[in-house]
Amino acid sequence: MINLFIESVLRGATTLVFPPNCMNCGLPGVDICTECKKVLTPKPRFLLGEDFPLVSSLFYGDATGKLMLLAKENGYVAAQKFFATALAISINHFNLNYPISIVPIPSQRKSIRRRGFDSMKEIARFILQDPNLKSKIEIVNLLELTRQVADQSSLSERERYQNLDKAFRVKSGIKSKVIIVIDDVVTTGSTLREAVRALKERNLTVLGAATACATQRRLAIG
Ligand SMILES: [Zn+2]
Repeated sequence: MINLFIESVLRGATTLVFPPNCMNCGLPGVDICTECKKVLTPKPRFLLGEDFPLVSSLFYGDATGKLMLLAKENGYVAAQKFFATALAISINHFNLNYPISIVPIPSQRKSIRRRGFDSMKEIARFILQDPNLKSKIEIVNLLELTRQVADQSSLSERERYQNLDKAFRVKSGIKSKVIIVIDDVVTTGSTLREAVRALKERNLTVLGAATACATQRRLAIG
């Protein structure tokens, strides 16, 4: 069932803005060509180094980085669906047999304004198309930022920690939920850790976190 879903997404979305070309190499006719599929096939695994379970499905390299730009900066639907599929595979790796709430890491208001859309929300919406997950999950935007934070990518590990210290809070009026936190990429894990901290502070149950991609640096941990 899940393979059919992956196939349908990899073979091509129906709502393309541009004619289908391989999103990585440009080969015409398909969203991802056979050759590029070799590096763009999600393989879920638990990553070490956190005090909560963390699953990721893709290595964040040149090809995934290129697709990430298409998904996040250009709002390219086929790329967003690609990451939604990878995230669905990561979430399915938890072997859920009861309903849970999926909580996306909130985007910064300034990046939503600049892009004109919230890429994480778009991607999260497509996760609901996974046939195995759609009856089990709800997407709940429980977290919000308490302040502006700097772009993590240029910061050291210590700076990332300081940048995100108490940066998230849970929106008010939330009842008890069982949660998996999701994000596009995990590098040091500081964003996910801050999200888990904020949720646990409100006595919410966090099963773990799932991301589409993990950086080489992250994969080297543990
Ligand atoms: Zn290709």
